[in-house]
Amino acid sequence: MPAFGKASKRRLATCHKDLQLLFNEVIRERDCAVLCGHRIEIEQDGAYQSGKSRVMWPDSKHNKKPSMAVDVVPHPIDWDDIDRFNEFADFVKGKAESMDIRVKWGGDFKSFYDGPHWELA
Ligand SMILES: [Zn+2]
Repeated sequence: MPAFGKASKRRLATCHKDLQLLFNEVIRERDCAVLCGHRIEIEQDGAYQSGKSRVMWPDSKHNKKPSMAVDVVPHPIDWDDIDRFNEFADFVKGKAESMDIRVKWGGDFKSFYDGPHWELA
Protein backbone atom coordinates (compact mmCIF):
# COMPACT_ATOMS: atom_id res chain seq x y z
CA MET A 1 0.00 0.00 0.00
CA PRO A 2 1.45 3.42 -0.91
CA ALA A 3 2.04 5.96 1.87
CA PHE A 4 2.93 9.64 2.05
CA GLY A 5 6.53 10.60 2.70
CA LYS A 6 7.49 12.99 5.47
CA ALA A 7 7.30 16.15 3.37
CA SER A 8 3.88 15.23 1.98
CA LYS A 9 2.56 14.54 5.48
CA ARG A 10 3.89 17.83 6.78
CA ARG A 11 2.28 19.76 3.92
CA LEU A 12 -1.03 17.93 4.20
CA ALA A 13 -1.13 18.73 7.93
CA THR A 14 -1.47 22.45 7.05
CA CYS A 15 -4.73 21.75 5.19
CA HIS A 16 -8.38 21.68 6.22
CA LYS A 17 -9.41 18.44 7.93
CA ASP A 18 -11.62 17.40 4.97
CA LEU A 19 -8.68 17.61 2.57
CA GLN A 20 -6.63 15.56 5.01
CA LEU A 21 -9.37 12.94 5.30
CA LEU A 22 -9.76 12.75 1.53
CA PHE A 23 -6.11 12.41 0.58
CA ASN A 24 -5.37 10.04 3.44
CA GLU A 25 -7.90 7.75 1.75
CA VAL A 26 -6.61 8.43 -1.78
CA ILE A 27 -3.02 7.50 -0.83
CA ARG A 28 -4.14 4.03 0.25
CA GLU A 29 -4.97 3.19 -3.36
CA ARG A 30 -3.02 5.65 -5.51
CA ASP A 31 0.56 6.69 -4.97
CA CYS A 32 0.78 10.48 -4.96
CA ALA A 33 2.73 13.34 -3.40
CA VAL A 34 1.59 16.57 -1.74
CA LEU A 35 3.50 19.48 -3.25
CA CYS A 36 1.86 22.30 -1.37
CA GLY A 37 -0.64 23.01 1.40
CA HIS A 38 -0.68 26.35 3.17
CA ARG A 39 1.40 29.11 1.54
CA ILE A 40 2.79 32.00 3.55
CA GLU A 41 3.01 35.42 1.93
CA ILE A 42 6.48 35.06 0.41
CA GLU A 43 5.60 31.63 -0.99
CA GLN A 44 2.34 32.88 -2.49
CA ASP A 45 3.99 35.84 -4.17
CA GLY A 46 6.77 33.54 -5.43
CA ALA A 47 4.14 31.20 -6.90
CA TYR A 48 2.48 34.19 -8.55
CA GLN A 49 5.74 35.41 -10.04
CA SER A 50 6.67 31.99 -11.40
CA GLY A 51 3.25 31.55 -12.98
CA LYS A 52 2.13 28.70 -10.72
CA SER A 53 -0.62 30.86 -9.24
CA ARG A 54 -2.71 33.64 -10.73
CA VAL A 55 -3.28 35.51 -7.50
CA MET A 56 -1.11 37.24 -4.95
CA TRP A 57 -1.27 37.01 -1.16
CA PRO A 58 -3.77 36.73 0.53
CA ASP A 59 -6.23 35.85 -2.24
CA SER A 60 -5.36 32.18 -2.78
CA LYS A 61 -7.21 29.37 -1.03
CA HIS A 62 -3.69 28.21 -0.13
CA ASN A 63 -3.37 31.31 2.08
CA LYS A 64 -6.18 30.39 4.47
CA LYS A 65 -5.44 28.78 7.79
CA PRO A 66 -5.94 25.89 7.62
CA SER A 67 -5.36 25.81 3.88
CA MET A 68 -8.54 25.37 1.82
CA ALA A 69 -6.49 24.08 -1.11
CA VAL A 70 -3.85 21.43 -1.69
CA ASP A 71 -1.62 20.56 -4.65
CA VAL A 72 -1.23 16.83 -5.20
CA VAL A 73 0.42 14.95 -8.06
CA PRO A 74 0.33 11.28 -9.02
CA HIS A 75 3.67 9.68 -8.24
CA PRO A 76 6.17 9.40 -9.94
CA ILE A 77 5.63 12.91 -11.31
CA ASP A 78 5.35 13.37 -15.07
CA TRP A 79 4.16 16.91 -15.80
CA ASP A 80 3.61 16.14 -19.48
CA ASP A 81 1.28 13.19 -18.94
CA ILE A 82 -2.07 14.99 -18.90
CA ASP A 83 -3.98 11.71 -19.28
CA ARG A 84 -2.51 10.56 -16.01
CA PHE A 85 -3.55 13.78 -14.25
CA ASN A 86 -7.06 13.33 -15.65
CA GLU A 87 -7.26 9.71 -14.59
CA PHE A 88 -6.00 10.57 -11.10
CA ALA A 89 -8.53 13.41 -10.92
CA ASP A 90 -11.40 11.06 -11.79
CA PHE A 91 -10.27 8.77 -9.00
CA VAL A 92 -10.06 11.64 -6.46
CA LYS A 93 -13.49 12.96 -7.50
CA GLY A 94 -15.06 9.54 -7.05
CA LYS A 95 -13.45 9.17 -3.66
CA ALA A 96 -14.56 12.65 -2.56
CA GLU A 97 -18.12 11.92 -3.62
CA SER A 98 -18.17 8.65 -1.70
CA MET A 99 -16.96 10.53 1.39
CA ASP A 100 -19.43 13.40 0.90
CA ILE A 101 -16.62 15.97 0.60
CA ARG A 102 -17.21 18.69 -2.00
CA VAL A 103 -14.07 19.61 -3.92
CA LYS A 104 -13.15 21.50 -7.07
CA TRP A 105 -10.30 20.40 -9.29
CA GLY A 106 -7.92 22.93 -10.87
CA GLY A 107 -7.98 20.91 -14.10
CA ASP A 108 -11.60 21.98 -14.54
CA PHE A 109 -10.83 25.69 -14.27
CA LYS A 110 -11.81 27.39 -17.51
CA SER A 111 -9.10 30.01 -17.61
CA PHE A 112 -6.05 28.14 -16.36
CA TYR A 113 -5.34 24.38 -16.25
CA ASP A 114 -4.03 23.66 -12.76
CA GLY A 115 -3.70 19.86 -12.74
CA PRO A 116 -2.32 19.38 -9.21
CA HIS A 117 -4.77 21.78 -7.51
CA TRP A 118 -7.72 20.73 -5.32
CA GLU A 119 -9.81 23.05 -3.22
CA LEU A 120 -12.86 22.74 -1.01
CA ALA A 121 -16.03 23.91 -2.73
ZN1 LIG B 1 -3.00 24.97 -5.73
